[in-house]
Amino acid sequence: MQKVLIIGSGGAALAAAVSAKENGAEVIVVGKEYPTRSQTCMAQGGINAALYAPDSIEQHIADTLAAAKGLANEEAVTLMCQQAPSAIAWLDAIGTPFSRTPTKQIAQRRLGGASHPRACYAQDYTGLKILHTLYDYANKLGVTFVNEHFLLELLTNEQKQVCGALFYDIRNGRVESIQASSVILATGGYSKLYHTHSTNSKAATGDGIVAAAKVGAKLSNMEFIQFHPTALKSSSILISESARGAGGKLLNSSKERFVDELKPRDEVSLAIYRQMQAGQEIFLDIRHLGEEFITKELPQERKLALLYENVDPLTELLPIKPAAHYTMGGISVDLKMQSTLKGLYAVGECSESRVHGANRLGGNSLLEIIVFGKIAGENAAKNKQEVFVCSEEKILHAKEKLQKLFTKNPTKNIYDTRKTLGDLFYEKCGIERSEKELQTLLQKIEEIQNSLNDYGIEDKAHNYNTNIVDYFEFENILYIAKEVATAALKNDTSVGAHRRSEK
Ligand SMILES: Cc1cc2nc3c(=O)[nH]c(=O)nc-3n(C[C@H](O)[C@H](O)[C@H](O)COP(=O)(O)OP(=O)(O)OC[C@H]3O[C@@H](n4cnc5c(N)ncnc54)[C@H](O)[C@@H]3O)c2cc1C
Repeated sequence: MQKVLIIGSGGAALAAAVSAKENGAEVIVVGKEYPTRSQTCMAQGGINAALYAPDSIEQHIADTLAAAKGLANEEAVTLMCQQAPSAIAWLDAIGTPFSRTPTKQIAQRRLGGASHPRACYAQDYTGLKILHTLYDYANKLGVTFVNEHFLLELLTNEQKQVCGALFYDIRNGRVESIQASSVILATGGYSKLYHTHSTNSKAATGDGIVAAAKVGAKLSNMEFIQFHPTALKSSSILISESARGAGGKLLNSSKERFVDELKPRDEVSLAIYRQMQAGQEIFLDIRHLGEEFITKELPQERKLALLYENVDPLTELLPIKPAAHYTMGGISVDLKMQSTLKGLYAVGECSESRVHGANRLGGNSLLEIIVFGKIAGENAAKNKQEVFVCSEEKILHAKEKLQKLFTKNPTKNIYDTRKTLGDLFYEKCGIERSEKELQTLLQKIEEIQNSLNDYGIEDKAHNYNTNIVDYFEFENILYIAKEVATAALKNDTSVGAHRRSEK
């Protein structure tokens, strides 16, 4: 029987797990946190599918390609959009509690860049409901879950085929290897590079992308980082596009509108950025939507605004700013979600599946993780590769590296440097980037990399040591930082989310 190892336990991982299991493989899902806490649970606005006329699959394809500004692959986009209605039907059938219209159809809302209301939703808890439904379903099918295991590195055999991975068991500090006939990376994106200027969960540090690159997998489009227009000003917590889809307005300090709120995200974020550069403060106004609508359709948005900004959107304007939200770049994959390495598949936000190009449409990421998750699972299950046993030498080497970390005393603080790096990225590799600023940024990254020996862990405990997890994430984010800054410097054309200025 084929053995499929899935690394990460968010929506993409669970869709892949279900599909690999249904295709007869033994499936093991390994994640650094619990599946139900994965970032997918933060998705609010919805999942796209052209379900009812006058919307159509052709229109969904056209909107996706237009938003991607020429950098998406039409075949991949067509595949995703064509499969969307059956993906929603499947999610509905396994129990996802989608919101309904009075006539019991699945309710849909309009998000930016969409020509029709196309995002199916479960109030504003869409990702959470999908993730938890998938988790229940995967458990019923007998998928094995191994939680709180941090991916350290991928294992390859002599033919350069990926055949397993090494993990750090967060619970007891041990290094473990898991061998498989194919490996699927579903470890999410890297927006947390922007640290406090990101809407993402702490886990979004690009770990899987780094592990793949280190064994030679190709990465692409790493400079394309989507800034969401409406993050809360002081916390970067996301206020979903569904608020604008329902009629929310963007206002400047003079209480004037300055942009069509339903344009794609790159355009709305740029308009906000320009206003902010001119000294304006920006607000989201949803007061006119009324208490009944907000309580029924956007309950989470109100809770988040009250909790994190101490502002009640029923009666007050919400102060907002653009924040790093989604990473379009990642591990290059083909239509089977196969990376450039044999035995290695990648899916979800860690992959670059050529459907988002220079700018992702809201609602297309949840769609991608379901449609392409199922494709990845099916192909990985059919991959006829033998299960290789990992050489003891590799495990020993990882253990020695870990041991060194426990014996040295750091003179520099990873937390301070993460913050500095995040601030630098927001300033120098944000919505607009210039050659000069990118060069300064790269120089700073190299300085940090050169002093990596001065960093380490303060906490030497072996059980539940969060300091060591933070350290691993720090090393990974540094690697990602260099990839992003280098790609941004190389690409001197302004397109979608990558805007170059020569100032
Ligand atoms: C606030 C917010 C709202 C959003 N709203 C929407 C929306 O309405 N519609 C939409 O289409 N998209 C939305 N998105 C984007 C979408 O939610 C994500 O792109 C998508 O859920 C990514 O799924 P994933 O499975 O690829 O990754 P994730 O859900 O991020 O899962 C990654 C998994 O990998 C694990 N992992 C990471 N590193 C390691 C490691 N080293 N070792 C082991 N495991 C590891 C993590 O623990 C996690 O389980 C939103 C995103 C955010 C942040």
